[in-house]
Amino acid sequence: QPSSIAVQNLLERAAELWPDSPSITFEDRTFCWRETYERCCNFAEVLAAKGIVAGDRVAYLGFNSHWCFELFFAAPKAGAIALPLNFRLSTAEMIACMEDARPELLLVDEHHIEQAQLLMDACPWLKTVIYAGNGAPPESMEGYENLLSSPQPQCSFGSSGDDTLLIFYTGGTTGRSKGVMLTHNNQFTNALGGLSWYRMTERETHLLASPLFHTAAGSRVFTATMTGTHSVILSRFDVMAVMDAVQRYRINTMQIVPTMLQMMLEHPQFSDFEFSSLRLITYGAAPMPVALLERALNELPGVSFAQSYGMTEASPVVCVLDGDDHSLEPERLTRLESVGRPVFHNHVRIVDSQRKVLPVGQVGEIAVKGSNVMKGYWRAPELTDAVLSDGWYYTGDSGYFDEGGYLFLSGRIKDMIVSGGENVYPIEVENVLSRYPGVVECAVIGIPHEKWGEAVHAVVRLAEPGSATEQEIKDHCRGFIAHYKCPVAVTFVDEPLPISSVNKILKSAVRKMIIK
Ligand code: ATP
Ligand code: MG
Repeated sequence: QPSSIAVQNLLERAAELWPDSPSITFEDRTFCWRETYERCCNFAEVLAAKGIVAGDRVAYLGFNSHWCFELFFAAPKAGAIALPLNFRLSTAEMIACMEDARPELLLVDEHHIEQAQLLMDACPWLKTVIYAGNGAPPESMEGYENLLSSPQPQCSFGSSGDDTLLIFYTGGTTGRSKGVMLTHNNQFTNALGGLSWYRMTERETHLLASPLFHTAAGSRVFTATMTGTHSVILSRFDVMAVMDAVQRYRINTMQIVPTMLQMMLEHPQFSDFEFSSLRLITYGAAPMPVALLERALNELPGVSFAQSYGMTEASPVVCVLDGDDHSLEPERLTRLESVGRPVFHNHVRIVDSQRKVLPVGQVGEIAVKGSNVMKGYWRAPELTDAVLSDGWYYTGDSGYFDEGGYLFLSGRIKDMIVSGGENVYPIEVENVLSRYPGVVECAVIGIPHEKWGEAVHAVVRLAEPGSATEQEIKDHCRGFIAHYKCPVAVTFVDEPLPISSVNKILKSAVRKMIIK
């Protein structure tokens, strides 16, 4: 019988091919692949000794660290499912998430001990809590490092193929966040796809600064292991720490979300740092204002940019707009508004509300098929059935293809505005708004309107409050888009717009600000 794909085999292979090359740097420690492999094997044995059996969930509550990276391999080696928790959740939200996922074992870092103690009281099914942080463990917990050094029985489990490897919770942008079951095959497929476009190698170093509990960074752990790339892990995204790490470790590639790029470019010390080692910055997860990208291309010459479009349910990459398409030549500029073309393991279609395929150029729901598509939502068969059918995953995003096979997003179906019977896609309006000088952030929403059903409303933050009037913004929009798409009203705000725990603008919260 052919053996099926198992990510822990990728780690074993890395230890054989590059035993002494660096695998992970975190704070002051650097490990080599042999050490990372041995630590993961030992930890899998610890999990077995703690009574973890196939299918159990092992959660990690902490900032990014090598312990979280290790869990992604130790859990499947013990047959368990890795569950990286969103450390930005409130305790109540965390308890709700724990009630949903019911992990048997929890790893906790030094920054979340108090919260872990509250969880221990609130979650009776939680049998073991292990301290995976710097320094000595608190009295009530066993220490990860101590456990690794004591001999353990062999673990006889191990998952592979279509077994669930990990559960990532979705961003919670459109409602309650859902647990997505991703398998070995899903992650292997995504990692392989990643190879085709970000071309990481064992000679390179990449930066993991985005949260590992989210697929964008979490899944890259597997590409790094497949390619032997050295991962420098930052505990959290901090703009100074990122710029410092790029310079210090001569980082070649990194993944960021648009707001992070903006924070970097706007930082007063941006020009003090040396970015010459950077080869590729990949970005995605939220719309990238074209004006911001133009600025990045000008201020980081020599760096290629690639955009990925995807979602937790697709492990996550669906489409990529690669370096060659990031051109500032006027006739190619509209390409920058596209999220690129499907990566080789994805088949993408645009469908109408009856799920019938639409022709090129028409806007509809984006559907995806491929071996990167999730097994389903954790313990939510109805939610799964609503989005998965015949191997197709219906994303809830809308968009269209152009003649060249490039996908253009129109936004979430839920956010679409219907004004006077015409569909208005907020992203199109936001792209125009963000081109107005001094606009730092904007969001377009529909608000109830007696005559038109909904009216287009823009919320805008200016770098210098008072530097533009409502009329100037409206006139600017009229120069680019049809009258019915232009904002009927503009609200200026001084504070940053409300964002989710993964830095996406929360349209529902913006709506609440405007519709009182
Ligand atoms: P929830 O599903 O809980 O509402 P979420 O959809 O934000 O949250 P994720 O799976 O993290 O959770 O995000 C995927 C979504 O992010 C996509 O469906 C899409 O709407 C958006 N997205 C991803 N990549 C891009 C991109 N390159 N440009 C614009 N939007 C993107
Ligand atoms: Mg989603």
